[in-house]
Amino acid sequence: MTQMKGTLSSHLWESSDLYRNSVLQLQEAAETMKLDPNIAERLKVPKRALIVSVPIRLDDGSIRCFEGYRVQHNMTLGPGKGGVRFHPEVNLSEVAGLAMLMTFKCSLVGLPLGGAKGGIRVDPTQLSRHEAQALTRRYTSEINMIIGPDKDIPAPDIGTDAQHMAWMMDTYSQEKGFAISGVVTGKPIEIGGSLGRAESTGRGVVYTIQHAARHLKEVGKSGPKMDSTTTVSVHGFGKVGAVAAREIYDLNTKVVAISDVQGGIYSKNGLNIPDVENYFAKNRTIKGYPEADAITNEELLRIKVDILIPAAIDGVITSQNVSQIDAKIIAEGANGPITSRAMMELEERGTFIIPDILCNAGGVIVSYFEWVQGLQNFFWSESEVNGKLAEVMASAFQKVIDTQTRFKCGMKTAALIAGVDRLNRAMLLRGLFP
Ligand code: NAD
Repeated sequence: MTQMKGTLSSHLWESSDLYRNSVLQLQEAAETMKLDPNIAERLKVPKRALIVSVPIRLDDGSIRCFEGYRVQHNMTLGPGKGGVRFHPEVNLSEVAGLAMLMTFKCSLVGLPLGGAKGGIRVDPTQLSRHEAQALTRRYTSEINMIIGPDKDIPAPDIGTDAQHMAWMMDTYSQEKGFAISGVVTGKPIEIGGSLGRAESTGRGVVYTIQHAARHLKEVGKSGPKMDSTTTVSVHGFGKVGAVAAREIYDLNTKVVAISDVQGGIYSKNGLNIPDVENYFAKNRTIKGYPEADAITNEELLRIKVDILIPAAIDGVITSQNVSQIDAKIIAEGANGPITSRAMMELEERGTFIIPDILCNAGGVIVSYFEWVQGLQNFFWSESEVNGKLAEVMASAFQKVIDTQTRFKCGMKTAALIAGVDRLNRAMLLRGLFP
């Protein structure tokens, strides 16, 4: 029996750095909070995973099968919730790691939702609109038996957006015979989306940065002033990074560097973000923007700034480059951008980390609002959505600070403890079936 313990987790799930890092961070939190070992054992592995082949006919007439996944990590608190990622490196282990993060995120911010994630191993930039639609619809149909408004509710992630959610909603609804908008969130407004959802993750990132700056001042540490003397770099110019950059710019704080997958741009006097947005809208990349110097993604991470926002992919700050990272605050807009080793070094150095499950929780919070609005068929104004988002983010930030003070640990561990604590109590109350 002893030998069997853990074998399931090692061979099936642990091939990705993201999953291994998430488990290491969970173990650290579990030891610090003295978590019931039986609960820790259950949290290390997902509840359920589905692997599907997604065959579509390409525009050239040939048929190609893509690999798709949906993983539900823990559904003690409610239906699963988590994005769908279209990326060439997606795999079961990565999706499982991301589903685990969703569990702790939903629990931390007090939502009645569990953690899930999905993805297709595909380069979405190589698909025509017609191919992307076929892929999204067939994937939805293949995972149809485990998703639904009461079961598991997908949303956008890397490589997917509101249009993909509209196709998912339509496919699911066609198969059931009537419109079921609550099956996904991050939908277009016309079919039951929420005002403020598209901006919610980036906006939430900036709320947490403002809280961090205020907190550092209150505890007498040197932090950014959040005025025109404050410098910010943003890694990733997608749904999270572009909104965060714009919100930072609107606060009259200087965004000195941003990047996308093709490369980055730098201006020591600060970039004109609305102008960069216009350039991006025309060129679908920020590469080549004429009013700034070209830099690489790696160079962007090493620029000395007050605030660094990694908002692209996981594992970009590692033991290889951590010694060259020079920022007072790192706001983890992306999921898992800092490996556990690099995290230890940054925290030892006194860098203030805003952990992913807190920093980027704005998206799932407004997804929850969208789901609730859909269930009630009663829709809120954008200021109501933003006001409620700010309230939930403020209370989650304070919860993490209080946990950090209580356990005298780093912010990453504190956020996980705060998330695991609520879940732990719920799991103990529900008990183990049968
Ligand atoms: P997106 O696809 O809209 O944007 C991703 C950005 O990262 C793009 O600018 C892309 O060019 C860039 N990028 C991709 N690969 C890169 C690489 N190898 N190096 C540098 N840049 C690269 O995705 P998104 O929704 O903005 O998600 C970004 C991160 O935020 C992901 O980790 C995602 O899981 C996380 N997140 C997203 C949401 C959301 O609501 N969209 C919510 C919570 C967390």
